[in-house]
Amino acid sequence: VRTKPHLNIGTMGHVDHGKTTLTAAITKVLAEPGGTGYVAFERIDRAPEEIERGITINIAHVEYETPTRHYAHVDMPGHADYVKNMITGAAQLDGAILVVSAQDGSMPQTREHLVVARGIGVRHVVVALNKADLVDDEDLLDLVELEVRELLTRYGFDGDAVPVVRVSGLRALEGDPVWTQRIADLLTAVDEYVPEPVRDLGRPFLMPIENVLTISGRGTVVTGAVEQGTLRVGDPVEVVGLGDTVTSVCTGLETFGKALDRVEAGDNAAVLLRGVRRDAVRRGQVLSLPGSVTPHSRFRARVQVLSADEGGRRTPFADHYRPQFHFRTSDVVGEIRLDDGVVLPGQRAEFTVELGRPIAMTEGLGFAVREGGRAVASGVVTEVLD
Ligand code: GDP
Repeated sequence: VRTKPHLNIGTMGHVDHGKTTLTAAITKVLAEPGGTGYVAFERIDRAPEEIERGITINIAHVEYETPTRHYAHVDMPGHADYVKNMITGAAQLDGAILVVSAQDGSMPQTREHLVVARGIGVRHVVVALNKADLVDDEDLLDLVELEVRELLTRYGFDGDAVPVVRVSGLRALEGDPVWTQRIADLLTAVDEYVPEPVRDLGRPFLMPIENVLTISGRGTVVTGAVEQGTLRVGDPVEVVGLGDTVTSVCTGLETFGKALDRVEAGDNAAVLLRGVRRDAVRRGQVLSLPGSVTPHSRFRARVQVLSADEGGRRTPFADHYRPQFHFRTSDVVGEIRLDDGVVLPGQRAEFTVELGRPIAMTEGLGFAVREGGRAVASGVVTEVLD
């Protein structure tokens, strides 16, 4: 039985600014007996699929509890595919911790992550001004903080209200009591600033598939974060997008290794499917209530194109441009059809997109556009065409 509200949060920020160290510091601070009164659960939940293929872990989940809330925290280690991972992870985030090195200040990936986060619906950010142990000058820290607040405001966040906490993930990890307290302060800021999300329980069940695994003797399991609705053991389900629709029945449910008879919007779930071969389903599809969502490949979009300063392209978007489109956990090539002219870096635009493969889509769905491993735009579906 759940007694505390559950939230999904995660770290974002420029590579080497300390996301992974901070995540480790949070779990260490929480795990310390009698330390902060917080509790940390499971350490890292590696996606088995990734390990089998020998790829760096995509997304690590850590679970913890504060006096008022239960959190699932995703850390996305910095590497070339970071933004892609951020998109698939951040699409489920109720809030995020933006890690900014106090020494370096905001960097291109800081801006890129903010634009993408905003584009896919993350509204609440708390800033960890990390590596504060390396900066003795308070004026300098004030300056970096001011700069970060301005940046947040520029990208549509409430830069004046966002809590900025000066931390040192490294020193807290080493057990320094002063810096340990700062980590606790950061968690308090998250508790207080990120509002309790309103879960969409009224709409039909929908879960973007993040991973597919096989449990020997039991069958195929799909994992992901439930986006809307509820699912019970015994309910009929459908797998939609990227190819043929597969119908099945949910024969088992788990969240963080605990068996449940029901999951709901906001939960990280593992769903056991009856009579489905592992290779019949894959990441990027959605698991849904039969008949509730349909695959589409043509749509109208409203898009914000990143400027070069935000990590985007230097050259315009032209007619027939074919970048990658990321919807939830899916990643498909799409061709842009412009009504006229070109779209310059930094501009907003509306155009038609034709995807190479159909995906589960409704109006209002957010997406990110990538080319060669970096984000070049973010947008929203304004009209489903066919
Ligand atoms: P990520 O790429 O954002 O996940 O960054 P990491 O957590 O891997 O950290 C990058 C480097 O910065 C590592 O060498 C860390 O030891 C160091 N680092 C991280 N946090 C701190 C900090 O608070 N203080 C100091 N001095 N170094 C840190």
